Amino acid sequence: MTALIDPEKFLGDLDHLRTIGAFRTGVHRPTYSPADMQSRHFLCERLMALGYRAEIDGIGNVFGWCPGPGRKLLVGSHIESQNEAGWLDGALGVVAGVALARAGLAVDVAAWADEEGHYLSFPGSRSFVGQLEESEIDAAKGRFTGVPLRQALAEAGLAGRPRVTVPPGRHAGFLEMHIEQGATLDRAGEQIGVVTGIVAIWQYRLVFTGQQNHAGTTTMAERRDAGAAAVRLLSAIEREYPKVCGPRSVWTAGRITLDPGAASIIPGRAEVLFQHRDVEMDVLERMQATLERLVAEEAARGPCKVQLEVISRAIPALCDPGFMDALAAAAEEVAPGKWRRMPSGAGHDAQYLAQVMPAAMLFVPSIDGISHHWSEDTRREDLVAGAEVLARAARAILAKAGA
Ligand SMILES: [Zn+2]
Repeated sequence: MTALIDPEKFLGDLDHLRTIGAFRTGVHRPTYSPADMQSRHFLCERLMALGYRAEIDGIGNVFGWCPGPGRKLLVGSHIESQNEAGWLDGALGVVAGVALARAGLAVDVAAWADEEGHYLSFPGSRSFVGQLEESEIDAAKGRFTGVPLRQALAEAGLAGRPRVTVPPGRHAGFLEMHIEQGATLDRAGEQIGVVTGIVAIWQYRLVFTGQQNHAGTTTMAERRDAGAAAVRLLSAIEREYPKVCGPRSVWTAGRITLDPGAASIIPGRAEVLFQHRDVEMDVLERMQATLERLVAEEAARGPCKVQLEVISRAIPALCDPGFMDALAAAAEEVAPGKWRRMPSGAGHDAQYLAQVMPAAMLFVPSIDGISHHWSEDTRREDLVAGAEVLARAARAILAKAGA
């Protein structure tokens, strides 16, 4: 079996990128920081050395355009990191794109800006697919720094640059390689995950209104305890959701606030931020219907008022079946019996690309399932296997597209 990619150069690029903004064994490259911009320029240099035209656009997306005529496959991920986070995360998918370009495949390489959401939710990939308004950029501020996005773009030398959008007819589709960020592959001793789809997150606010009162003098019969009502509803969710969910559904009450939040005061108000995720629309709908029923039951039971507010309902992104088959066939060649099809529980740029072109994703294992932490890591043989699977799948997809 002759390899398409050059493993030494691929790992060498990853190792070099790891030195930019190094933090312990990980990296600290918040979007538009000097380290982040240095990594974007490094990527441009690597691409230009391969005869590519490289550019950084007005939102910070890096593009490497493959020379020559014919349709191309777009390959990439993101290059900035969470604060004090792992060295692979999105950088892996970008460097894998460079490895495919080096192998002579007809791929354009992209690094989508700010996937990690230091300023906005997926501004880079949304900009490319035409879903980012200038007014959103005007209003955004750094989540940790408070710095206006416009100022950050200016300091990064990107002010006034045009934003690149999908070139019509150029791309046969999009491929993204990423670390799993969960423990499924690592626990199973497998090397490759062929992603079936990216889960959608549906978010809710539950508000319970009771009566704030003295925790000693108010009898149990008299009190209207909003905290108790919230806990009752959450325990009903734990009981009822398993009856309607899918095999990989997840749900979380990430924040519970009690008002006024004192030891000797009956909470008059409780607020719960709740979310559920799945890759299938009908499962998401079933879970919401269950939530609505439980809210109605708790309200009818009394003594507190219960309100359910929908904060957001995203649409799950399904991966292209033909691309998935190409990835699966390549996985079986490179890692026979050591791969599986699986959904992505985290959001990725591919979910936006999937709205405008066929798209698919490939996972490699995260050791112990750790990510968004500097100790994040993946075995080198798994990194190489992943890039090789990506290259073989890209070759097959390009051949089919007549590129
Ligand atoms: Zn990522």
